[in-house]
Amino acid sequence: MKRVVLALFLLLTFPIAARVGGQASPPAKPKLVVFIIADQMRADYPVRYGNLLEHGLKRLTKNGAWFRNAAYPYSSTITCPGHTTIGTGTFPYRHGMINNAWFDRETEKAVTCNADPDSQEVSYATSVGAGDSAKRMLMPTLAEVMRAELKSRVATMSMKARSAIGLAGHTGDFVTWFGDRGAWETSSTYAATPVPWFIGFLKGNPVTRDADKVWERALPVEKYQFEDDVEFERGAGGWTAAFPHQLGRAGDAAYTQHWTQSPFADTYLGDMAQAAVDEMHLGTEDRIDFLGVSFSMTDAVGHTFGPRSHEIQDTFVRLDATIGRLLDHLDKTVGPDNYVVAFTADHGVADFPELSGGGRQSMAAVRAAIETTLQPLLGGEGGVIAATNGGEIYLKPGVYDRLKANAEATKALRSAVSALPGVMRLLTADEVSSAEARSSKDRVIKAVALSFYAGRNGDLMVLPKENWLLTATGTTHGTLQSYDQRVPVVLYGAGIQPGVRNEDATPADLAVTMASIVGVRLPSPDGRVLTSALKKR
Ligand SMILES: [Zn+2]
Repeated sequence: MKRVVLALFLLLTFPIAARVGGQASPPAKPKLVVFIIADQMRADYPVRYGNLLEHGLKRLTKNGAWFRNAAYPYSSTITCPGHTTIGTGTFPYRHGMINNAWFDRETEKAVTCNADPDSQEVSYATSVGAGDSAKRMLMPTLAEVMRAELKSRVATMSMKARSAIGLAGHTGDFVTWFGDRGAWETSSTYAATPVPWFIGFLKGNPVTRDADKVWERALPVEKYQFEDDVEFERGAGGWTAAFPHQLGRAGDAAYTQHWTQSPFADTYLGDMAQAAVDEMHLGTEDRIDFLGVSFSMTDAVGHTFGPRSHEIQDTFVRLDATIGRLLDHLDKTVGPDNYVVAFTADHGVADFPELSGGGRQSMAAVRAAIETTLQPLLGGEGGVIAATNGGEIYLKPGVYDRLKANAEATKALRSAVSALPGVMRLLTADEVSSAEARSSKDRVIKAVALSFYAGRNGDLMVLPKENWLLTATGTTHGTLQSYDQRVPVVLYGAGIQPGVRNEDATPADLAVTMASIVGVRLPSPDGRVLTSALKKR
């Protein structure tokens, strides 16, 4: 009996060529690589809210290789850095996308990570301005390496430009996001003119398709944890803290505000991904294709309603269904043995400080402490600060050099800023700009150094204490605290060995692992191949 089982095992395990020829053949490659991102999903959601899952997220976590201890090792746990890390397999110190936007010292203006004056907006409504691209991204993505070396077709989509572009990189066949002016768009970097099949999709699926709908909980209320109506929750466009939420009428200004803060936009994006698979023949022709879908509503809802809200739980429930439909569609069109999925998030989120026992540190107070300390010691008519961006301080030209040369001023600055109630630590650019800093035993130095790209970051970095935010309302992310760094990391599908893994992993490992699966090499990756997720052959 044992021998029969063993023979059957060998028959099932080894490819025919290996048995006939007596030589090991390389594993069969998938036809489609799929990256699914949930914007702002903490590692604890699939555990804490796991009882709510019935569809796609259940399939991924139950039948995939789930790295439950995965975390970003860096401090800029924000959308643009996160998606670029997922896309390239490298960290911000290398790929250069250090934040969603930063202060450009040359023009003395804020620039978004994707702003590109040399690119034209290509809108599905009316194009009016400069476009977005990966011009500032300093590393290639897996998708663009596949496109160059394997002739892959690349489709990425999200409500956010930085998410679609972070996954696609510098090129792509269909790279599309929902623009600031309430219409889908791409840029001349990716398409000279609107893509015909997507024009057709939009005819059948205007973004007003959810007008007059009411967002109610998809499951019975007793399934949801915590309270619905919590004081600190506030929806945009007049939404209150409690269900139900009215989407409003098509044509009303508030409709777009509501829609882009509801799970309906994620459902829409899931339909769009299915259409891209069909229209672009992804995974069904003689090549390996790339599909990247970043769902943004967990972020929009998380910021305003918080990680314990009924709203975030319901967004999670509906995302589970949306991803389930996408996987079912891939089963049908591409075939379950022909695609492999990477699932992760770009960052987590903090609880409302009012609920977690933390607090809110006013940045005005931080700025005042810096100005009143440094102006008398270093001079500086009209102030020493040129700009701030979150906790990053950009000093006026020459001020940082004078600060470095003045030990007394540096000491006074540290003590003044550290005396503020919500500040954990103040770091200078020089403390985090070296290779030694990136491998420092000091976890804080290391995390900030991995996020630091000289010339783009500030001169000073103010780090809030655990459970403290630098914002006045809602909740947010962007620190090196574990609630921001820890995210789900899952591989699922063809060639993946299911099971929970407890080893360390980062989202940068996903692109590197996928590269090894499809047989391409990423330059200078920070991630590693997650060999324990791969089926032995
Ligand atoms: Zn994000």
